[in-house]
Amino acid sequence: MSAKPILIIVDPQNDFIEGGSLAVSGAQKAMLKLSDYLSTRLNLFDRIFVTQDFHPEDHCSFTEQGGTWPKHCIRETFGAEVFKPLKAVLDKCSNVEYCKKGQSKDRDQYSVFDIQNGEITNEDGKKIYDYIKSCDKFDVFITGIAGDVCVLNTIKDLSQLIGTKPIFVFKNYTASLDGGQKLEDYCNENSIDIF
Ligand SMILES: [Zn+2]
Repeated sequence: MSAKPILIIVDPQNDFIEGGSLAVSGAQKAMLKLSDYLSTRLNLFDRIFVTQDFHPEDHCSFTEQGGTWPKHCIRETFGAEVFKPLKAVLDKCSNVEYCKKGQSKDRDQYSVFDIQNGEITNEDGKKIYDYIKSCDKFDVFITGIAGDVCVLNTIKDLSQLIGTKPIFVFKNYTASLDGGQKLEDYCNENSIDIF
């Protein structure tokens, strides 16, 4: 039996794209390229998981609350919505699931799995992991925004769960605050295919 390809798109949300409150340079271009790529491969992936930062108004990661980041991805606002051209393509697939993270006020979750002491602590992360484990063989492709923050942390957490071998990273559809160096270094150091 051949491995089932699974795609995780990390935080393709308006606030992380040019014009948003926490914009990552190159994000729009990366998301348009990803939309284009997926539009001709709607059935290539067995399942597509899209993660979304989904914060309350007074989330601990915001500078006003003493955190690191400007206000972003407040739930039920435009900034938290998935980038429209990508959403339009995903709407044509029947196998897409949206997964939320960062919903509780006092905890930030760069990774949808949010592993603590070896345990997945985010419900939507458990859902993704349960699906992966239900497949006999699987390859997990990861891409999204930001490469050096939420994408990287998702990869680190997932590699604790399934090892690095079934993980593949699309760097062309990833935008990073640091231009991509951290992500590339991590993948190279851990023998994760990045292309
Ligand atoms: Zn956030």
